[in-house]
Amino acid sequence: MGFLKRWVGKKEKHQIGNRTVIIIDYVETHEDDVEEIDKRTIHEIKSNILKLCKINKMAQEFKELIIKIKEGNKLYDYRLGKNAGAAAHVFIKNKFIITLNVKDLIDKKILYACLTHEITHLWHEYSSKIFSKYHKHYKKISNRNSNRIKLTVISKRSTFIAQLRILFFELFRAFLFEGLAKYCEKFYTKEIKLDDKSYFKKIYGHADSQVGLFSLEWKVFIEVLENNRYDKERLNGLLLSFQTLYRSSYIIGYHMVYTIIYTDKNISIEDIAKMNYIKFINTYERCIKLNRFKPVVSLRSGKGIINYFTLIKETKQIAHKLKLFKS
Ligand SMILES: [Zn+2]
Repeated sequence: MGFLKRWVGKKEKHQIGNRTVIIIDYVETHEDDVEEIDKRTIHEIKSNILKLCKINKMAQEFKELIIKIKEGNKLYDYRLGKNAGAAAHVFIKNKFIITLNVKDLIDKKILYACLTHEITHLWHEYSSKIFSKYHKHYKKISNRNSNRIKLTVISKRSTFIAQLRILFFELFRAFLFEGLAKYCEKFYTKEIKLDDKSYFKKIYGHADSQVGLFSLEWKVFIEVLENNRYDKERLNGLLLSFQTLYRSSYIIGYHMVYTIIYTDKNISIEDIAKMNYIKFINTYERCIKLNRFKPVVSLRSGKGIINYFTLIKETKQIAHKLKLFKS
């Protein structure tokens, strides 16, 4: 029998000055294969959470922060797959909630990284309402796609195109919010090397190779389509390679945020948090060019290894090719 049954729904309220941090640990499962974690470890996890909430500047902006500790298998991110998401955040009636995977909290360093990452997301929403705006636009684009596509005719292929457009939309926004969270995570855990040319080159290399891989697969896919050699398996294959790219949005976004901070000393993390994704990508493009590097992504200039509007244009061409749009 796992410890988690004994800890179901336990709630603790802590005061840090005039702020409240609520820690809830619970689990919704009664599986017996849950790893045993003793009371002392749980106590240590909680005290580490509180320590970070005390010192983290972004955490200090919240009057009330709710942190839930969950059993890992219950956290699921449809873009990243089971168990890959270490933490999640939700916004319910202006409540700021962070959900953390208990298995990732035993190591203090990982706990600090995970928690800082999620706090950054909350702070980003708090300072610019980025996620609220994003969800509004997301709804719009999903509706628009399902209206324009003949779902009754070739339902599976049209679902594919709709998914693809939503994924591109999500990806380019993820560069901003995952990039910012990754930057802060590395900044607070002191993994970042500021003003370091070789470090700048190293993380450029990571982003460059990830985007390069996808770009190659995308080109092959377009070619296959031109020659009418596509099938369901190939469509699914491309979606899978897209998911790999989405997983890399952290690395790519991190490189983008780092490039801006590295190049333009007048821009702060706070400034980036207030940018919309268009301004963010354009600022990145300006900064990377100043370093005489090819941008890994761009919006409309066509200068990036992948360019948002080119991808959307090509997606539309695919849709026409597959005869998905009405007349
Ligand atoms: Zn994140």
